Amino acid sequence: MTVKYPEVWDLDVLFPGGSVSPELRVHMDNAVPKLDEFEKLSAKFEVPASADDAKSVAEVLEAVKDMMLHLRQSSAFIGCLMAQNTEDKKASLLQSESSNQSARFSSALQKIQQDLTKTDDAVWNALMEDKALKEFTFVLNEWRDKARLLLSEKEENLITALSMDGYHGWSELYDMLVGEIKIKITVDGQEKTFSVGQANNLSSHADAEVRKESYEKLEAAWTEKEDFFAKTLNSIAGFRLEVYKKRGWENPLQEPLQMNRMKQKTLDAMWGAISKNKHPFVDYLNRKAQLLGKDRLDWYDVDAPVTESTQTFSYQEGAEFILEHFKKFGPELEKFSRTAFEKGWIEAEDRPNKRPGGFCTGLPMTEESRIFMTYSGSMSNVATLAHELGHAFHSHALRPVHQINRSYAMNVAETASTFAEMIVADAAVKNAASDQEKIALLEDKVQRSVAFFMNIHSRFLFETRFYEERKKGVVPASRLNDLMEEAQMEGFGGGLKSTHPHFWASKLHFYITYVPFYNFPYTFGYLFSLSVYAKALEEGAGFEEKYMALLRDTAVMTAENLAMKHLGEDITQEAFWEKGIALCVKDAEEFISLTSSAE
Ligand SMILES: [Zn+2]
Repeated sequence: MTVKYPEVWDLDVLFPGGSVSPELRVHMDNAVPKLDEFEKLSAKFEVPASADDAKSVAEVLEAVKDMMLHLRQSSAFIGCLMAQNTEDKKASLLQSESSNQSARFSSALQKIQQDLTKTDDAVWNALMEDKALKEFTFVLNEWRDKARLLLSEKEENLITALSMDGYHGWSELYDMLVGEIKIKITVDGQEKTFSVGQANNLSSHADAEVRKESYEKLEAAWTEKEDFFAKTLNSIAGFRLEVYKKRGWENPLQEPLQMNRMKQKTLDAMWGAISKNKHPFVDYLNRKAQLLGKDRLDWYDVDAPVTESTQTFSYQEGAEFILEHFKKFGPELEKFSRTAFEKGWIEAEDRPNKRPGGFCTGLPMTEESRIFMTYSGSMSNVATLAHELGHAFHSHALRPVHQINRSYAMNVAETASTFAEMIVADAAVKNAASDQEKIALLEDKVQRSVAFFMNIHSRFLFETRFYEERKKGVVPASRLNDLMEEAQMEGFGGGLKSTHPHFWASKLHFYITYVPFYNFPYTFGYLFSLSVYAKALEEGAGFEEKYMALLRDTAVMTAENLAMKHLGEDITQEAFWEKGIALCVKDAEEFISLTSSAE
């Protein structure tokens, strides 16, 4: 007999009673003396003077780990409370308490990191050879290497202090400006007022008039305020470039590449391979235009639905579909996911007051994960569920790894999730009940390639060119529009009839100050994961062990070394990236052939 999987997650097993849980209160209170202790330890910590200090450094790292586990356990739990009920006021109070605790921990940790980086070279090398620290060599060297590229401690502290108002403040202003914009659009014969986010969502509306109107009204709204957005963007970029200049960094990509532990050569190879393979996707866009009764696609048609998937699955059916196909890939993924379904690790119920979207969060003290989403029965819900299970499986694979060695970068963060989603999306296409259904599912896949290879490529092209021009002075709105249009023409391989010149104003990602170049890691992650997936198809059932070994190493080596060690692939070469792209090209070709035979 099959077990009925719960649709509501079990949080009580972690801390019973939700935001008024006495156990959670005790846990939060316990963090205070622990933080006091840790701060004392940090203050007492000294620059290592000889190799004999290896043991004491290792002890400090253990204390770091304990603190991380303790704080993470409560912050993840509180995150779950906030998501399941957006009106839980007690949870939001707990959240600010928890972020204060994390801030205390971060500054104490920073002091330790700074001391470590001041270690004399010979002592450092001896430390890195010591048995007690061997496991942490990559992370410790990374801390040190990063610190060495910075200005003096005093200067960096000044920059951090000034950036609150002078840098991050601009990013906050952006959110305010966008929040003020209201747009009136006629939907179903009625004029309604929309926020920017809501109006953006109309880009996938079935009615071409609605898509066109929302695009035009949005463009008009951005145009009206373009000077404010140009000022904001120029200030953010100007601040960043000035800091880079003072540090002696010439390439604006230095920091984002470093954050993603990858080389410029790798990035160039990735975009090089993508640039050479635009034509199958241009063919797809043209086919889509035909299906919509046009000669070429306008910007506002890119997200238009050609046909919709109508198949629905109950939650139980969706879960079983996932498990059935995970099993074909490997026993561990299936066993792990079954446990997640059975033990109530997943919140999927469709009910009011839940936050939109989906996420997966790890509770490291109990070595569990929790997945949040709203399941309403579509194939895309099933894919999201698989995606989040992939994230949870990544944490599962990392269980034997020390907490300090688990901080993987953005470009590999989506490896396991995209991989799991791919298993399910491919199976769904194969199992489609009709050609119409198959076309809808395929389109879903190809749309993602269009987003990663075309749209995100155009964002990257725009941003690199803008930063180069910004070095020479302020770039006015009119020039930003030109740069954006050029980038979109190139990114979409000339496949569009019209572009979105004010996209630079509309996209929040350009205004995120904590993560520069919030674009290429997405494309990297997608293609990297596809390559792992291609390898899995090639090697069959025995691949899972290798796959888990790769996941375990995601935070302790560069992207180049990770691929070389576990896939035997050189990612600084275009040939590597072309293999992943080839899988996407097949989908685009199948879409074209199916839609021509269906006519
Ligand atoms: Zn994800």
